[in-house]
Amino acid sequence: MAADRLTDPVRSEDEDDFNREEQTLRPKTFSEIVGREREKKTLQILIEAARRRGEALDHVLLHGPPGLGKTSIAHVIANEADVPLYITSGPAIERKGDLASILTNIEDKGILFIDEIHRLNRAVEEVLYSAMEDRAIDIVLGKGPAAKSIRLELNALTIIGATTRAGSLSAPLRDRFGLDLRLDYYSDTELLQLILQKARVLQVALEDGAAAEIARRARRTPRIAIRLLKRVRDFSQVEGTDGIITAAHADKAFRLLGVDGQGLDELDRRILGYAIEHFNGGPVGLQALAAGLSEDLTTLQDVYEPFLLQAGFIARTPRGRVVTEKGMRYYQNHDAQN
Ligand code: ADP
Repeated sequence: MAADRLTDPVRSEDEDDFNREEQTLRPKTFSEIVGREREKKTLQILIEAARRRGEALDHVLLHGPPGLGKTSIAHVIANEADVPLYITSGPAIERKGDLASILTNIEDKGILFIDEIHRLNRAVEEVLYSAMEDRAIDIVLGKGPAAKSIRLELNALTIIGATTRAGSLSAPLRDRFGLDLRLDYYSDTELLQLILQKARVLQVALEDGAAAEIARRARRTPRIAIRLLKRVRDFSQVEGTDGIITAAHADKAFRLLGVDGQGLDELDRRILGYAIEHFNGGPVGLQALAAGLSEDLTTLQDVYEPFLLQAGFIARTPRGRVVTEKGMRYYQNHDAQN
């Protein structure tokens, strides 16, 4: 996937946790999380109940498309519960021993955040089961007939798993999470609030109209909204906008950047175009689309399809995806303009 695509919801290299600006943008407390009222309430109760019992938090699974705040919520939970947070990801833990060494180093009531938890391999997953359930792991020392298994007790700990695909999680793993929270796309109003909040943090003076222009293109995703905000900020610094960014400035910046009014990018248009031109609008399976467009199936599945569905450009039917009337209109108008 192109790393420089403005509308890519997946974190790019300069958006990692070591980036200072990224750290200032990340919410640290529940009050800094925009929207997500139901989820915040649920988590506050979870934290308070565990505090009263003097126990570690129950294990939490966060699922939803990339860029919607899973990592941020893990940070906020750890901060609000006042416990240490350890961060890793499914693909980073290759062997049982890797996970064993992470787990045995976790302080009492610490939280281990495992991003992309659906990508853990089965052998590693089994170690995780016993850690989550029995707070102990069995490790095998030596090989062959001389091998012996010893049981290591762990500190009380909490696993927070994040996944873009709850469906790919094995049932036994999923069952071990006491709380399963789905993070949905943002509403337009929440996204607008988020943009205004981040503009204050970045000390960018933004008119509400300019925030609306950003929100319209941000695919209902905080990470994209923040990225677009930063590009508009750059544009205004270079172009000189007398300190305050208006809707007209934002619009001009986006024209220059080639982001269309609905936040759709080239691949979204190719998906719609392919389904319309080769399948008469569908139904068509995702695999056929991926093959026809020579694109990665996972990217289509995790990134493109959820947004196109959610925004109403395509619909899911038992026989495959179909382009909706809105999708048809969008494609025809876009085609006519170019
Ligand atoms: P994910 O882990 O789901 O890919 P992140 O937690 O990294 O997403 O969020 C992406 C960006 O959006 C971060 O910079 C974060 O600060 C911001 N963000 C996400 N959700 C919220 C929220 N509810 N309130 C404020 N900022 C948010």
